[in-house]
Amino acid sequence: MTANPARRRPVIAGNWKMNPDTQEEAVGLATEVADRVQDMSAISVLCPPAVWLIPVAAAIGGRVGVGAQTMAAEERGAFTGETSPLMLRGIAEWVIIGHSERRQYNGETDETCRHKVASAVAHELRPILAIGERLEERRAGATAAVIDRQLRIGIADLQRIAGSSLAIAYEPVWAIGTGNAATGDDAQAAAAQIRGILRERDLEGADQVAILYGGSVTPDNAREFFAQPDIDGALVGGASLDAAGFAEIVACAAELRG
Ligand code: PEP
Repeated sequence: MTANPARRRPVIAGNWKMNPDTQEEAVGLATEVADRVQDMSAISVLCPPAVWLIPVAAAIGGRVGVGAQTMAAEERGAFTGETSPLMLRGIAEWVIIGHSERRQYNGETDETCRHKVASAVAHELRPILAIGERLEERRAGATAAVIDRQLRIGIADLQRIAGSSLAIAYEPVWAIGTGNAATGDDAQAAAAQIRGILRERDLEGADQVAILYGGSVTPDNAREFFAQPDIDGALVGGASLDAAGFAEIVACAAELRG
């Protein structure tokens, strides 16, 4: 079955990771991005560190989306350092779940992601579930198996895909922050596999899901990804810290997919 991009608006999410150092810089970056992208037809989302979520949201005033980089599945309780979905509501509309750095440094597992994705949807936040293989898994020929496992477990607790506002980011770990992006063909193969698994769960809902590619996306290579039928946007790390470059990526998505 062919993809149906016409029903999906492109989504470009900027993952600022643990940057920038000051509120002034965060507000400045967010304001410059919003000024540049506000009239573009692609959906832009800025995901600053938790401590900058409120000033960033205030600065952009709804002109672009705001996302958290992670959240707890639980609503409240003894979870030191965590941010709950109840706290995010009204500040962020999006939340990245299961970024490979959370899996690597914070012990997040497929099961953790499963609870967090379901919790995000239950609290009307849009989850961007990040999945993708490590270099050794790719070398072992296990890419498809890793995608299959991470996706199936990650969405296992969703009752329905349709109406869930789910987004999936295919992020091969070896491509993140390395300057060594996947090829458009490889990213499309992963995205098509993801769409196929979603269709098994929900034929209609699968075509509503934005599938993003992430891993060293820049203004120079963005076109290669957005030209693919199943890639509906990007999760951008390093290049999202430069307002002009990020806006170029958004403009490219708007031109090809908007
Ligand atoms: C990311 O952090 O999700 C990411 C894709 O980073 P980068 O664009 O820097 O590779």
